[in-house]
Amino acid sequence: MPTFDFDLFVIGGGSGGVRAARMAAQTGARVALAEAAELGGTCVNVGCIPKKLYSYAAGYAESFEEAAGYGWKLPEAPQFDWAHLKAQRAKEIARLNGIYASLLKNAGVTLVTGWAQLVDPHTVEVDGKRHTARHLLVATGGTPFVPDIQGREHVVTSDAMFDLDPFPKRLLVVGGGYIACEFASIFNGLGAKVTQLHRRAHLLTGFDDDVRQFLANEMGKAGVDVRLNCDVASVTRGTGGTGGLTVTLARGQQIEADTVLFATGRVPNTQGLGLEAAGVALDERGAIAVDAHYRSSVPSIYAVGDVSTRVQLTPVALAEAMVVVDELFGKGKRRLDYEFIPTAVFTHPNIGTCGYTELDARAKFGEVAVFSSEFKSLRHALSGRSERTFMKLVVDKATDRVVGLHMVGANAGEVVQGFAVAMRAGATKAIFDSTVGIHPTAAEEFVTMREPMPG
Ligand code: NDP
Repeated sequence: MPTFDFDLFVIGGGSGGVRAARMAAQTGARVALAEAAELGGTCVNVGCIPKKLYSYAAGYAESFEEAAGYGWKLPEAPQFDWAHLKAQRAKEIARLNGIYASLLKNAGVTLVTGWAQLVDPHTVEVDGKRHTARHLLVATGGTPFVPDIQGREHVVTSDAMFDLDPFPKRLLVVGGGYIACEFASIFNGLGAKVTQLHRRAHLLTGFDDDVRQFLANEMGKAGVDVRLNCDVASVTRGTGGTGGLTVTLARGQQIEADTVLFATGRVPNTQGLGLEAAGVALDERGAIAVDAHYRSSVPSIYAVGDVSTRVQLTPVALAEAMVVVDELFGKGKRRLDYEFIPTAVFTHPNIGTCGYTELDARAKFGEVAVFSSEFKSLRHALSGRSERTFMKLVVDKATDRVVGLHMVGANAGEVVQGFAVAMRAGATKAIFDSTVGIHPTAAEEFVTMREPMPG
């Protein structure tokens, strides 16, 4: 029986890696984790957490605007201090980095700082030092993808958005996915003039069609200049004093901007890890190919999170990590069911969604009943804003089960998280109907929709 330095060696200190290392160590396993940058990965450092903080910051602009309708007289026009927000964010993220470090330390995980490379199925090298382990887990996440357009060197990705200097007065966002829509909304709220270009006829591919249209309309009303069916041909930097950027579209039109953000998807972080040396196979997307237990083509090497799966969400990486730990050090019974994973897009207004789009539900279940509602929330009765809320339920007619639930409106993420539990439990429309609403809320609309849409 070979002896190893560790039972588990984790490469990558993001959400999935830290969770796996901590939980494995708590079972008594000898665990090491290697990370070359700050602990916490994309989510903590340049993703979910700072994004949500900036989304809150943007929300104040709306609140100031609405306050007058409620009788508040602000002494002077509110001023936004970008440098202060950045400093506050950096302080909070540093605090979280520290919490991650102490979680690992308290669990007894050996933290190895540096770039880790696989040498063989049981050996990792970090800064010239070799470590052996019975099992290896790759949890290195993903990185932004920028297409190969002319002038690519002038654009930034989401990684750079939190520390831009100076604040971009004119921001051009390319892409129509989560990140593009969120940053367009946030910087619009913070006071930038935002143009968003997307190559398709609708934003947010994969979301329910009604949600896609409703959100684009609301973002437009809020001030984002959303332009659809637009492809970028090139980006050039002006030689004049302003140093501004000119974006030329495929059909010739030009747009000036201070910052151009490409939010055109993310790719798995597989480069420079020695995956080939260890014999780890990648799939057609360049991600580590894994089986239902997150085991790669090499039996001792596992992978979780964005480096391996299709569902690029922090809670999914966490859940996958728990499955791996249970597989290696527990009862081996835990599984992750990818159906009915709720998600939110932190645009203004938010999107919250769980389950199937109407289109996908029709394809999967056949006959479905669709209920939807669009209204002005009570908050806007006095706020002076014209923002509206949209809600939709998709019900499988054969079983009466609610198989799709979608919302565009304030706090949609908070609302949908609760409904997701009911949906996982298989709640039917009859159960929704028999649930007493909380009045007055927007969420109560989900339990008071009585008439299906015709057709
Ligand atoms: P997405 O896959 O959501 O969106 C990518 C966008 O870029 C799509 O609109 C896509 O268009 C477009 N695109 C792709 N390639 C090109 C190209 N060559 N030229 C022009 N446009 C292009 O990726 P994101 O980068 O926004 O986010 C990555 C993932 O991170 C998300 O899928 C999500 O899972 C996760 N995430 C989750 C968040 C949350 O939970 N709130 C927040 C942020 C990210 P098309 O529609 O045609 O494919």
